[in-house]
Amino acid sequence: TLPAEKYEYQAEVSRLMDLIVNSLYSNKEVFLRELISNASDALDKLRFLSVTEPELLKDAFELDIRIQTDKDNGIVTITDTGIGMTRQELVDCLGTIAQSGTAKFLKALKDSKDAGGDNNLIGQFGVGFYSAFLVSDQVVVSTKSPKSDKQYVWEGEANASSYTIREETDPEKLIPRGTCLTLYLKRDDKGFAHPERIQKLVKNYSQFVSFPIYTWQEKGYTKEVEVEEDPAEAKQEEQDEKTEKKKKTKTVVEKYWDWELTNETQPIWLRNPKDVTKEDYNEFYKNTFNEYLDPLASSHFTTEGEVEFRSILYVPAIAPSGREDMINLKTKNIRLYVKRVFISDDFDWRTGTKGFWFSLNLLVQTYPTCINYSIYFLEQFPRYLSFVKGVVDSNDLPLNVSREILQESRIVRIMRKRLVRKAFDMILGISMSENREDYEKFWENFGKHLKLGCIEDRENHKRIAPLLRFFSSQSEEEMIGLDEYVENMKPDQKDIYFIAADSVTSARNTPFLERLLQKDLEVLYLVDPIDEVAVQNLKSYKEKNFVDISKEDLDLGDKNEEKEKEMKQEFGQTCDWIKKHLGDKVANVQISNRLSSSPCVLVSGKFGWSANMERLMKAQTV
Ligand code: ADP
Ligand code: MG
Repeated sequence: TLPAEKYEYQAEVSRLMDLIVNSLYSNKEVFLRELISNASDALDKLRFLSVTEPELLKDAFELDIRIQTDKDNGIVTITDTGIGMTRQELVDCLGTIAQSGTAKFLKALKDSKDAGGDNNLIGQFGVGFYSAFLVSDQVVVSTKSPKSDKQYVWEGEANASSYTIREETDPEKLIPRGTCLTLYLKRDDKGFAHPERIQKLVKNYSQFVSFPIYTWQEKGYTKEVEVEEDPAEAKQEEQDEKTEKKKKTKTVVEKYWDWELTNETQPIWLRNPKDVTKEDYNEFYKNTFNEYLDPLASSHFTTEGEVEFRSILYVPAIAPSGREDMINLKTKNIRLYVKRVFISDDFDWRTGTKGFWFSLNLLVQTYPTCINYSIYFLEQFPRYLSFVKGVVDSNDLPLNVSREILQESRIVRIMRKRLVRKAFDMILGISMSENREDYEKFWENFGKHLKLGCIEDRENHKRIAPLLRFFSSQSEEEMIGLDEYVENMKPDQKDIYFIAADSVTSARNTPFLERLLQKDLEVLYLVDPIDEVAVQNLKSYKEKNFVDISKEDLDLGDKNEEKEKEMKQEFGQTCDWIKKHLGDKVANVQISNRLSSSPCVLVSGKFGWSANMERLMKAQTV
């Protein structure tokens, strides 16, 4: 047999391993969650491929994860019957970083350092395979891919800059398919090799893995055994018949070891919502989406009738940072299953992210329609709602259908509509929560998304509008909704008034407000640059038009023709004089009835841009 070959880690890997070991030392147990999640991913990949290639399963029909412990020697082995790795995949996956989990970890680490650092938070992130070195001196990965005839062994040591790969030759270690990880625990971490400890961790961290996880447990049963007779007692026995029976047998506990199913494998979305607690939903969310905060809201539902599917949707507690996330189509926020088979959460196959799909090329070759299919499905979820996370499982979608057919698919259209409706119901639920802070939090994080929805999704204006919030002349501290505004309208008030400005202070100080305030009319302050465009797209709410008070011809319904005529006569010449002096700088100089204490005001033309828009346009061209 060939000798083991030595490889150097990519430089970032060594750095990452240092970071993991140094920042997670108080949270070592996450290693188990990470390794189980890798096993589960590997099983998902296999199950997915086996839909079209059932022969992939022939080497091992069971799809499961088994964890065995040797507490005397401090060894933990984790075996899965998943997709395994070829020699090249071992080099690519365990010697370099391109993984989503690890990237997220690095970012979280940086953020938390910037924020003064709570390293405990980081423990909640996916840190990936290298977390094995948190507790191990040595890690051995023995793996067999269905694509290869050979089984390979990857071996690495803590604090080393290189690893080795060799062929598996020990016949006792050969596996039909999948991966077997052996961890040789550090001296201080040998406690993890206690079967009860592992069992508890699996229950804690991996209860939502949808493949069975077995742990190797010591069991016992009681049994009556005969006791050898003591000659002295035998004598007594002749005297007393009653004690005789007792003395002859005794109860003993017979010990043996066996696999024990340790997790609940029915996916949470298939359970009856009545049997699922809020904590369960939150845990599932955090586990599935690698989040460390509880969600703001969740919604678990089944739709029946023409199209049947089950889903759990969530509103996260905070928005991902960065502008690109808002318009990013490449979110991994909706996980699509068909008949419980995980199809995809990743549809950017052109760039081939290494994160979830170990080899997208392979997938595209073997099953192109499936990939297109998930791309198409996810495109169907409006991008402004892309912050909503969740799982969707349908029995009605066929696994193999071409993209062309899907574009016409009524099923997909209906699913999309229902998901969108449920997402809105969930958000509306937050807005009606007794706890006003919940919605404030929501608005702070996702208000911009909904405003984008006003622009992008005419069809859902009715659902979006009641969720919008603005400051107003009568509520400068707390934002109000349009319903509150409408309730507060004067009996003869026809329109919803607004002024766009760059801050509440500058809105409050514009002369346009004077007359409206005098008449006690409420004016919305649109202080976010996108507000004005959003409102213009809405046009009206409950049949009341949005009216920009900075535009000419503002009609407050109090025209006095007589008086206007008088004024025109008196000040006509003054106007001409001003226009002459200002020349092209203004389009027109007019007498107005909209001011009460200021002598004059600059207004925008009816069809022109508002001053706010003009400012925005300028900012963009710079
Ligand atoms: P991530 O899971 O975020 O991709 P990890 O560091 O946890 O990052 O894993 C790196 C890669 O190693 C995985 O993407 C996968 O390709 C491969 N891998 C890890 N564990 C297994 C396993 N048990 N079976 C098959 N492949 C695995
Ligand atoms: Mg992983």
